[in-house]
Amino acid sequence: MESGNVLLGTSGWSYKEWIGPFYTKMDKSMLRAYTKVFNSVEIDSTFYRYPSKGTVMGWTRYSPEGFVYAAKLPGLITHDKKLQVGQGIEQDLEKFVEVMEPLISSGKLGVILIQLPPRFSYKPKELEDFFKLLPTHVKFAVEFRDISWLRSETWPLLQKYKVAYTIVDEPLLPPELHLTSDIAYFRWHGKGTRPWYNYQYKREELEPWAPKVKEVTSKAKKVFGFFNNHYHGYAVENCLQVMEMLAPLNSKQLEAKSRIENYRKSAIQQSFSTLEAFAAPKNTSFESLMNYFTAFERLKRAEQIQDSELTIVKQTGELIQATIREYHIDINLQNRSVLHDCADWARVSSTKKFCKHVAKLFLSVEKQRGAEILKDIYDNEDAWQFKSYVQS
Ligand SMILES: [Zn+2]
Repeated sequence: MESGNVLLGTSGWSYKEWIGPFYTKMDKSMLRAYTKVFNSVEIDSTFYRYPSKGTVMGWTRYSPEGFVYAAKLPGLITHDKKLQVGQGIEQDLEKFVEVMEPLISSGKLGVILIQLPPRFSYKPKELEDFFKLLPTHVKFAVEFRDISWLRSETWPLLQKYKVAYTIVDEPLLPPELHLTSDIAYFRWHGKGTRPWYNYQYKREELEPWAPKVKEVTSKAKKVFGFFNNHYHGYAVENCLQVMEMLAPLNSKQLEAKSRIENYRKSAIQQSFSTLEAFAAPKNTSFESLMNYFTAFERLKRAEQIQDSELTIVKQTGELIQATIREYHIDINLQNRSVLHDCADWARVSSTKKFCKHVAKLFLSVEKQRGAEILKDIYDNEDAWQFKSYVQS
């Protein structure tokens, strides 16, 4: 699969609540930061109002080469005027395409999404009259919100006007795959209640989607897919999960993924400690402490290190010394220090987290002992020092 043909991202990028899980406070431009991780985004703001020329110029200019937008057609056309020819929608459409021209001519507008209103039921003649107005130099996708459209007559109509069917995951319509143009378009809305998109997909729910995306990728020229469950940054997290099921993530994407996972973990940790500040001991099982100290990806990598690569050089009541690959680890319970010398350690140790080597050592010592040390580090985080190992 050519990664340039699969364009996955989120619906919108400018959410204040993403500062923390996804953006840092230092990100001056959310769009810039977003485009470092994703190669596509769906512009939702165009549904509510026509953008200014300056805004469209900004989208064009502040996104890298190869970045592709999808944009929602103004709700004025779809929802207010309900695609009624004779209500001035010809001019509305023309005006919209004209204002989007900088994006179109730069090749950065991949598709315009025609989202039909809810309860807009099967009216093929009206839809066809509207399709006849569509310019041919821009690609379109249509999203139905009413199940009456899911019938065999619909697909040839879409094919005739080369409009892509939008494959949806939402509570009201089935997740059917239909390819009606040379592009495919997915939208994941979430399955929450009021609103749907306040929803975090579980991994198991996303897994069946990876083969579906792969299937259409082999048939369509370009595949677009956007997560609309933007609450709490779920869209970012879920999108990266699907991307990872399709192909290995690049370093920026891995960074974003582990940032958001750590953010969730510390949020859980915080709610734990507020809830339980005066109550029962925290969950200090070996597994939950390992998860606390080691980001998901690093723990996975630790598990892949062969036992033969680790040598415990010395183990006493106060000391564990080990070598792993070409590195050293020195845990001193009396001084409360962990010394180690890989490059990743230089990064993670400042936040009192483990790299894969230190995690592997904990996975390799006797579990009871490992749990005791982890609990001591957890309970006395300030006293413990994570430092770099210097060979004597
Ligand atoms: Zn290491």
